[in-house]
Amino acid sequence: METKAINKPADKTGKKVKPPKPVKSAASRKLFAAFYERNRLSFMLALILAALSSADNSVVSWILGSVIDAIGASSRSDLSRAAIATAIFLPAYLIVDSLFAVIKSRFVHKGIAQYKTAAFSMLCGKGIGAFSHENTGGYLSALTNDAAAIEENYLNRTVSLVFNVLRFAFALGMMLYYSPLMTLIVIGLCLFPIIATLAMGCGLTKREKTVSDKNEAFTSRVKDLLGGFSVIKAFKAEKQANALFSGENADVEESKRSRRTYSGILNSISGVSGGVVQFGIFIIGAIFAINGRITAGTVILFVNLCNCLIGPISVLPEIIAGRGAAKALVYKLADKLEDNQAEAGGKVIKSLESGIEVKELGFGYEEGKSVLNNLSYRFAAGKKYALVGFSGSGKTTLLNLMMGAYADYSGSLKVGGVELKNADMNSLYESVSLINQSVFLFDDTIRNNITMFSEFPKEAVDSAIRRAGLEKVIAERGESYLCGENGVNLSGGERQRISIARALIKNASVLLVDEATSALDNETASLVSNEILKLDGITGIVVTHRLEASLLKKYDAILMLKNGSLAEVGSFDELMEKKGQFYSLFTVQ
Ligand code: ADP
Repeated sequence: METKAINKPADKTGKKVKPPKPVKSAASRKLFAAFYERNRLSFMLALILAALSSADNSVVSWILGSVIDAIGASSRSDLSRAAIATAIFLPAYLIVDSLFAVIKSRFVHKGIAQYKTAAFSMLCGKGIGAFSHENTGGYLSALTNDAAAIEENYLNRTVSLVFNVLRFAFALGMMLYYSPLMTLIVIGLCLFPIIATLAMGCGLTKREKTVSDKNEAFTSRVKDLLGGFSVIKAFKAEKQANALFSGENADVEESKRSRRTYSGILNSISGVSGGVVQFGIFIIGAIFAINGRITAGTVILFVNLCNCLIGPISVLPEIIAGRGAAKALVYKLADKLEDNQAEAGGKVIKSLESGIEVKELGFGYEEGKSVLNNLSYRFAAGKKYALVGFSGSGKTTLLNLMMGAYADYSGSLKVGGVELKNADMNSLYESVSLINQSVFLFDDTIRNNITMFSEFPKEAVDSAIRRAGLEKVIAERGESYLCGENGVNLSGGERQRISIARALIKNASVLLVDEATSALDNETASLVSNEILKLDGITGIVVTHRLEASLLKKYDAILMLKNGSLAEVGSFDELMEKKGQFYSLFTVQ
């Protein structure tokens, strides 16, 4: 999907690669639709008010021209007509302009809020595997920095685009009405600013995209440095951390400086050329007036209307470039969101009665480097299995594959009779729970961290708390105790017990446990392991390094992995009697 990135500078041979056109994918259509969902009325009203508001300067020019002509003709009646027109125009102008500001802001605010919500909901639709090797900093940046740029450059500027195009059209129409010849001269004078700003507009789109890319890298770096704060302190790496931060910071600020400078130059070119055009019209108009071709009032009208031409000419390229850049940001996020969406609509896993069947399973993270080889085993429903083996033997990888993290395995991996690469991932997540080595807790209450913000009967919560060995913690602190950011207010063991309770309350048919008891003291670890072993009707596959005979004896089978292959399998007694690889591992421990 990265091939769709807009700004690929060069290929491997160093040759410039033409950026591919953004693809209108389903994800991008959804994101664009989110701007206008239940927001169409505000959008239409904003456009109508933009049209009314854009006529203001033309009306002012007409009034000014009429006043000058009335003075020239010493006509009291013309002067009083102009005064009446002014008295009607001013309050109407005030009302239209205020309403325009209110409605436009309502459209923009609702549009961007809905866009972010739609993006996050699509993000939640991703599969675990797809998300696990993504850079979350990119999403952070897309939902903060890029969203701010989209709000300003796309939503705000869509309305401004209509406003400026109509303002230009009104002025041109009025000019043509008063003097087609003068209008032709004005168009001729405007050619330079039009060409100059159009030529520079493309450069602005490129710079906007660079700012977005640099923002993404900066956000990722800050996220990384804050996440590893304790490591930085413990290893006295503050200087290096500062250097890393400064590097990204300088890059992002440099890209913003380049964009600001470019935009400034664009503004001054259009400002100066606008002044030249206005001065030229004034001089040519004066000559025409002296020759009696037009009135003095028409000269003033033309000079004033000139603002309505020069204004749009100077801002339109920036508006168009800004909109183009903002659309590129939407496409960029859509590409990320579209990449490996969870396969909803696959085959639904209905029953786990047939257990989990692994046949000649092979997998590797990198090409030519296999982590699991030719693994075959049938995990029967309701039984408990221990997965053991040296570090790096592939235990976690096997659990992750069972959780649907990767679909590019060879051989077969069936859960409830459904081949996992063709399965509906939502039905898999409903049937299978994973308790991980690394626990994530939300900055919320213990109860919400267990229930994951869903409603459960009190008995279900109490039972999960008891089975996960959390009763003492709850008795001391209560269910409403706040865990802090990623559980900083709790010990490692307490955090892990909450994650166990979270998996238990879900009542899934399969429980995958990856070293979940490693942060617990011996007593709690054996209590929790025993609770998992006692779970009736639930298939349990537990990766463990804690080789305790009393505990291992309770498993229906122990599977020993070695270099990604199944080295031995059997009950504890069988394997000990065999005096093979498991025996060696056990006695070494
Ligand atoms: P275990 O759980 O038995 O310690 P793992 O399944 O974690 O083993 O790892 C098996 C092998 O796969 C190791 O060599 C490890 O370095 C490699 N590995 C694990 N995760 C990844 C990953 N995301 N990308 C590349 N290699 C990985």
